[in-house]
Amino acid sequence: MAVTETRINLFDLDEAGLREFFASIGEKPFRAQQILKWVYHQQVVSFDEMTNLSKPLRTRLEEVAQLALPEVISEQVSNDGTVKWLMGFGGNNAVETVFIPEPNRGTLCISSQVGCALNCSFCSTGAQGFNRNLTTAEIIGQVWLAAKALGHERNGRRRITNVVLMGMGEPLVNFDAVLPALSLMRADLGFGLAAKRVTVSTAGMVPGIDRLRDSIDVALAVSLHAPEDTLRETLVPLNRKYPIKELMAACQRYVADKHKRSITFEYTLIDGVNDHPEHARALVKLLRQVPSKLNLIPFNPFPGTAYRCSPKARIEKFQQIVMDGGLIATVRKTRGDDIDAACGQLAGKVVDRTRRSRTIRMNMISEPENRERLQ
Ligand code: SAH
Repeated sequence: MAVTETRINLFDLDEAGLREFFASIGEKPFRAQQILKWVYHQQVVSFDEMTNLSKPLRTRLEEVAQLALPEVISEQVSNDGTVKWLMGFGGNNAVETVFIPEPNRGTLCISSQVGCALNCSFCSTGAQGFNRNLTTAEIIGQVWLAAKALGHERNGRRRITNVVLMGMGEPLVNFDAVLPALSLMRADLGFGLAAKRVTVSTAGMVPGIDRLRDSIDVALAVSLHAPEDTLRETLVPLNRKYPIKELMAACQRYVADKHKRSITFEYTLIDGVNDHPEHARALVKLLRQVPSKLNLIPFNPFPGTAYRCSPKARIEKFQQIVMDGGLIATVRKTRGDDIDAACGQLAGKVVDRTRRSRTIRMNMISEPENRERLQ
């Protein structure tokens, strides 16, 4: 007979949640701080090792609580030092988490959902369909496990200096689980990352942008990909619900708060689709409305896609036009492409629960076994 797990997973709780939890079992709220230090600073997840908690409390915690993490299914290291993990959550669901080392920083790219329901036409995650939201524990668990695997130390060498929610999924559709995870990334008793070092990337969930602004101080990235609605709808179907005008208004509201700096706009350059000089000029006009940085991402192909990456010369010309127009624009270097860890290539394992055609999905998954089957 299957035993249903009733113990609360403390990885699901941020500091406020932990204080409530301890109050609910008749303990002092400061226990929250003790637990946080053990878990996030000492990387201890066994109650038994938490020696400043009394033996009876440790026994009690064993009974009512647990510290459960995702399962690391695999780890791959790229020639350029990029590391990709497949993290599993049972039931054939898994997501990918990527660490990108650079000379002065280390960025961890994490996932927020198993698959994604937004169906952006140029993204391999979208092609896989959607199964479910990740829990807070599954989101912060990716950071915890990566930190552990990398030998990240709080007071020594910090390997993870930045976290971006740019992996699989749309974080602002999974707001309730994402928020406590962000709070744990920011908290001194958690990973202690500054606001500008934690970035939420959205395909343009307007109500979520407002909620985020009101809830926590983090950096915002918006996946734009087109300067006008007709084209954007073909790339990001969510644009039908939240067109560019509404999206830009939400961005303005986001930066109106003095604590939030500028917004990073992501623009994937796809050959012959959105990379014309006219697009670059329209983008300059559009982005003048908001303090912004533009991140140009050369399209990363994946099996089954008809899109191609823009030629280098066109990418350079596009960048030149937007920079001449006064924008700050960088071209994102492709990292980890030998292990399929580049933007839009993250696949994981998704048990799709949408009604999308299985054939299309299978054709587009970028896992080696599927690729072999297709050859
Ligand atoms: N749903 C969120 C976060 C995930 S996507 C969002 O849309 O922002 C993270 C970034 O990768 C986005 O800017 C996305 O547009 C980009 N991306 C997706 N597929 C890509 C591909 N095949 N090549 C290059 N960038 C891609």
